[in-house]
Amino acid sequence: MINILIATHNAHKLKEFQLLLEPLGYRVIGADDVVLPDTEETGTTFQENSALKAMAAAEFTNMMAIADDSGLCVHALNNEPGIYSARYAAANGGYPAVFDVLLGRLTNDLSAHFHCCLCLAKPNEAPLFFEGDVYGQLTPHVETTCSSFGFDPIFRPAGYEHTFGGLPKEIKNTISHRAKALAKLVEYLKKQL
Ligand code: IMP
Repeated sequence: MINILIATHNAHKLKEFQLLLEPLGYRVIGADDVVLPDTEETGTTFQENSALKAMAAAEFTNMMAIADDSGLCVHALNNEPGIYSARYAAANGGYPAVFDVLLGRLTNDLSAHFHCCLCLAKPNEAPLFFEGDVYGQLTPHVETTCSSFGFDPIFRPAGYEHTFGGLPKEIKNTISHRAKALAKLVEYLKKQL
């Protein structure tokens, strides 16, 4: 088996990677298993931030490592908050308070997309990137379920009547930015074995 480190402390993300990669023959290891130090996200793009995290993890463990960076890009706001999505939410009262702050800055154009960038880093090799987007609209009709998080409650993907907050997670997990980036990564990893 080939070891692969997922540079996240998020148990849900780790589980998602385990379900996809272990049947392929990879042993999936989480950041907590190796007491991985946190890396500061000082980059200005999704690629830079995911690469900072993945390359630091690969160097620390001498293993192949994967890190992700994702966010909400609002078209009328020049793709803000983008890489700053979590920080923007925290600075504006957290969820759900930030929904009103964000929607209050918009008039007619409510179009937006989520972006996910996954970086695969191997010790002493150039990093590889696998990216995915999901396009849709922001809406003031907030929908929340127990599995929704972040901006899910106000983002309605194109072609659906419900927001990510109102859609079953099985649907979100097949059409999301993360699902699309992961599918590309899995295709690549399959070919490596
Ligand atoms: P992270 O890079 O996965 O930690 O995500 C950064 C931030 O982007 C999150 O804290 C959310 O604000 C936002 N975000 C990214 N992906 C999603 C999603 O699938 N649903 C809702 N919000 C998301």
